[in-house]
Amino acid sequence: MLDIRKWLPKLLGNHEGEPPSEPDEIVACSDCFNDQGLKLDAFLIGLDSPSPCPNCGKTSGRKLSRHLLGALAHRFFVWGTLHRCDYGAAPIVQFNHHRATEIDSASWFEADLRLIGQLLGVGFFYYGPRLWMVGEVEPLKALQEPSTRTEIIARILNEYSTTEITSDQLLYRLRRNPQRPDKFDEYDSPPIDLTDSGRLDSKGFPVLYCSQDLQVCIHECRVTAEDELFVATLAPTRKLKVLDFAELLWEENATEFDSLDTAIHMLFLAGSHSYDISRAISLSAHDAGFDGLITHLISACFVPGRCHLRR
Ligand SMILES: [Zn+2]
Repeated sequence: MLDIRKWLPKLLGNHEGEPPSEPDEIVACSDCFNDQGLKLDAFLIGLDSPSPCPNCGKTSGRKLSRHLLGALAHRFFVWGTLHRCDYGAAPIVQFNHHRATEIDSASWFEADLRLIGQLLGVGFFYYGPRLWMVGEVEPLKALQEPSTRTEIIARILNEYSTTEITSDQLLYRLRRNPQRPDKFDEYDSPPIDLTDSGRLDSKGFPVLYCSQDLQVCIHECRVTAEDELFVATLAPTRKLKVLDFAELLWEENATEFDSLDTAIHMLFLAGSHSYDISRAISLSAHDAGFDGLITHLISACFVPGRCHLRR
């Protein structure tokens, strides 16, 4: 079976790998680089050691083993050049032991790039992504096409598992600058005439977004230090039957190009251009008798006439 949920690490490659079991030779330090970003990143992951750097001779920088230098190069050049598409994403630069360096770099960057290439024995090159990484996934393409969307949504409702959220499970709902923080209504879904602004709610179909992870709430609300934040702790008043996108969908013999799970994962990471599709999924799930859905980040309860949640 294909663990397609690991598509992002697969997409970026994994030069960091497991740490070596043997002590790894120190080859550089954070003071070896000209570029401030590389210096900072090297300092962050480097090792404290009073010995002089074998490359620059300084003792002040944090030391990088060969493994850590590879991790630094991967963070900086592969993650750092990740390019998002309408759906999916791919790094612009990759490196390996088989290619010579062939990317253009700024003049202040050339010495750093040459140094890393020499110490690791790798070359940096422009990466031609496999097409599934940039959204060429058949179920995803079918979801974008209105004439085939219904058929894929039927598959989604049928193939993903159902989970129950029970009354002993807590959910958090964060509000930023509520007018009356002590009023329970402030933590409900928006009034029905103010819906149609999010990923899953649509006109006349309010949705309550909440999470079992408080940090996710804070991140999703994009809060700043000047915001007044209030959190409601919610629990269902009855069992809620939800469609579970957080669990891995096992797809026998599926490739990346025809994986439904990859399609869903890319859909929920895409921007507002994708909301028509995710709203159609939430409406169909509601029509099929689900009380909500969960992804790896959020729980969303459909709220036709108030949710079955207490505070
Ligand atoms: Zn150094």
